[in-house]
Amino acid sequence: MKILKERILKDGKCYPGGILKVDKFINHQMDPNLMKDIAVEFIRRFASSNVNKILTIEASGIAPAIMMGFLLNLPVVFAKKKKPNTMENMLSTTVSSFTKQRQYNVIISYLTPNDKVLFIDDFLAYGNAAKGIIELIEQSGAELVGMGFIIEKAFQDGGRYLRNKGIHVESLAIIESLDNCEIKLREE
Ligand code: 5GP
Repeated sequence: MKILKERILKDGKCYPGGILKVDKFINHQMDPNLMKDIAVEFIRRFASSNVNKILTIEASGIAPAIMMGFLLNLPVVFAKKKKPNTMENMLSTTVSSFTKQRQYNVIISYLTPNDKVLFIDDFLAYGNAAKGIIELIEQSGAELVGMGFIIEKAFQDGGRYLRNKGIHVESLAIIESLDNCEIKLREE
């Protein structure tokens, strides 16, 4: 997605340890016009999939997911990282965090065996969040129809793992390397 890749090169910042900071336009300050374009591109790429629910994980997946839900008139559910006292009938699993280097629980309700779910998130790195989501979807009996990521870091193996499982994965910008703090994007 050209406009996203240009924005990553303009406003993205590289940190040691293979971390890309995009908090000027995606996950702290957010650009709603870019977010709408991202949602439209995900909709185009998953047009052949039969989806009835958009699923994401808090916090950074919520913006693109709600844009898609709005445009497709579909409900959006986000997996929570803290259990509210009032939450009932929930499913839970454990995820290792790449950026925070710790483990956390993810909790969700509102997934049913009738659901055909598209998962959306900001980053795909090692795929730990995605693995947790797959586990929750399996527990619920719902069907996973695809996983869409705004940015995939191809040098961290999540993408390969998910595609090897036969999952339809779409990433709108793929980073080949962040070596020497230089952002190298995959040409399409
Ligand atoms: P994974 O679970 O695939 O290893 O990592 C994905 C999660 O970690 C994303 O939801 C995202 O919040 C965070 N993450 C992974 N890599 C990066 C990165 O380079 N920059 C930022 N800002 N977040 C990242």
